[in-house]
Amino acid sequence: MEMNKWNGKAYTRSYYEILEKRRSLPVYAQKQEFLQCLMSNQTVILVGETGSGKTTQIPQFVLEAVHVDDAGKNPRKWLVGCTQPRRVAAMSVASRVAEEMDVAIGEEVGYTVRFEDCTSSKTVLKYLTDGMLLREAMTDPLLQRYKVLVLDEAHERTLATDLLFGILKRVLRNRPDLKLVVMSATLEAEKCLEYFSGAPLMKVPGRLHPVEILYTREPERDYLDAAVRTVVQIHMFEPPGDVLVFLTGEEEIEEACRKIVGELGDQVNVVPLYSSLPPAMQQKIFDPATGNRRKIVVSTNIAETSLTIDGVVYVVDPGFAKQKLYNPKTRVESLLVSPISQASARQRAGRAGRTRPGKCFRLYTEKSFNNDLIAQTHPEILRSNLANTVLTLNKLGVDNLVSFEFMDSPAPVTLGGALSDLVDLGALDADEGKFGNLTRTGEMMSEFPLDPQMAKMLIVSPKFNCSNEILSISAMLSVPNCFIRPRGEARKEADEARARFGHVDGDHLTLLNVYNAYKQNNGDSNWCYENFISHRAMKSAENVREQLVRIMSRFNLKICSSDYTSRDYYNNIRKALLAGYFMQVAHLDRTGCRYLTAKDDQMVHLHPSCCLDYKPEWVVYNEYVLTSRNFIRTVTYIRGEWLMDVAPQCYHLNNFKNCETKRVLQKLSKKRDREGNPK
Ligand code: ADP
Ligand code: MG
Repeated sequence: MEMNKWNGKAYTRSYYEILEKRRSLPVYAQKQEFLQCLMSNQTVILVGETGSGKTTQIPQFVLEAVHVDDAGKNPRKWLVGCTQPRRVAAMSVASRVAEEMDVAIGEEVGYTVRFEDCTSSKTVLKYLTDGMLLREAMTDPLLQRYKVLVLDEAHERTLATDLLFGILKRVLRNRPDLKLVVMSATLEAEKCLEYFSGAPLMKVPGRLHPVEILYTREPERDYLDAAVRTVVQIHMFEPPGDVLVFLTGEEEIEEACRKIVGELGDQVNVVPLYSSLPPAMQQKIFDPATGNRRKIVVSTNIAETSLTIDGVVYVVDPGFAKQKLYNPKTRVESLLVSPISQASARQRAGRAGRTRPGKCFRLYTEKSFNNDLIAQTHPEILRSNLANTVLTLNKLGVDNLVSFEFMDSPAPVTLGGALSDLVDLGALDADEGKFGNLTRTGEMMSEFPLDPQMAKMLIVSPKFNCSNEILSISAMLSVPNCFIRPRGEARKEADEARARFGHVDGDHLTLLNVYNAYKQNNGDSNWCYENFISHRAMKSAENVREQLVRIMSRFNLKICSSDYTSRDYYNNIRKALLAGYFMQVAHLDRTGCRYLTAKDDQMVHLHPSCCLDYKPEWVVYNEYVLTSRNFIRTVTYIRGEWLMDVAPQCYHLNNFKNCETKRVLQKLSKKRDREGNPK
């Protein structure tokens, strides 16, 4: 009997069944060619159609080769690591590969994503997000634990992957024994080749069937309704075959699923897919439909290239995705539903031709495809606020951004903005015109897997005697929305339940109330259910909080609270919020219904989800949301006079630009001078 060399157990039946399938994947035919290429080069670039088996097979091929290579000679654990831009993909693919290798997930095959490490000392193959590998490089600059690294989905050009390119170039020079495989679905291979000059390119031919593209004759007014209508028509008039619908986010997807079920009932199996879905539900997209029904997967961009669903014959593409956008003038980064690129549209269409000839229904006109869509999505590094990036690079020892080899260099104004934000946050010292050095605060900030503002807030919270509370709030802000809001009858009940947690000063304190109530009820799932609170979100918050506590302790930051009955209890928390997020403050304008952001005078509104039933003069906010209107979300009332105490560097009147906010600050400052320092 053949034994599994990884765990010494006999192979199960399912191993052989999956092996059959694996052998039919296109990459399998090129296994030897690939391994030879890898043995004779330090870097290999591999391009292949989505679904050809890159993500699941290549790391296994590498593992086999490395294992043989090192047998007996090297007692040290050499890891094979494979990065994924999305955490869902890292988790899902790791489970699949564990199954393929017939081992338990978290043992020989594992994954690491932010706030979750599912690996052990036995792990030899690890899937991880590109962001996590970047974090690992902070403590292990030469990435010593890896023997081979696979950078997957390079075509996505996420911020973290782009930074890894530059970092790895340096690491490869210093570690001739390390090998790198860069994998990409299509495109940009030229750019990669040029960047890693000398690296060979290997192509895996796809096995794509022709896909017929159908456009609408007129632009659609409501793409969600149009998508639902198209699904119904496919179901009624097209031969059997599963359907994949691309929408932009959880709410839209849930609504579309409900509408499809409303129209077609149980004639079809409707399966949603988005990142905040519990992993067990995510796995459902791979289950074959029951009883010969048609399967309809309604997914975010994640199904574009990250996960391959077999059996899809029809694709419905409304042409939109939620994408990060950055305005360097206002320094606002936000997620916005916006048109996809032609390259994305082609990828989406390709998903229909995996099993047999398929059809792609584009819910826009052919003219629009040709004239309105950009050829390729811009790399994320050109669409992001780079404060975190600068901090990370600095921590990684890249203290001269100009000499860093970016595949696409960010705009100088964006880098400049990031530097000045970091100086304001006290992370860099201000050397006129020169790239400042990381301060002690900056060092600490870079160790938190959080945005710089939140890290700063945590670091200063002991000074405000409320690190316990700030930890809970940070944890709650780092997990998906905890409030469940069902449709129909139950919605009113849910809103009432939510209102019971409401804090008169705003949303951050409301989140604190929820966290405390959850802990008082011992994390009881029934309590969550009765209060329309997501148990999963709360469990993650608990976990995140524990990890943040560990980082705080490492730096000897005190975990403390003010006396709950003291007048200052909530004031201290609000001041600590401000000490991190002083750049995200807005002031009620003269009309009394809108706000102006203090930093750049942008007109914004309180988000409908805000718990405040009045409009405080000054607020601090967690997030700027661009939709049909500009909203600020997760908002708490603060006092204007605190600004000058907590963030004098930012709110010093001498260098504050002329605007309505400045006049209000001037009044406050005069009042303050008259009355002495107010509490
Ligand atoms: P690529 O990375 O080239 O896009 P993958 O390695 O992700 O390709 O996928 C190869 C095959 O493995 C696909 O046919 C896909 O359907 C299958 N597969 C991947 N994950 C799962 C899973 N969780 N369950 C079932 N099949 C899967
Ligand atoms: Mg893949």
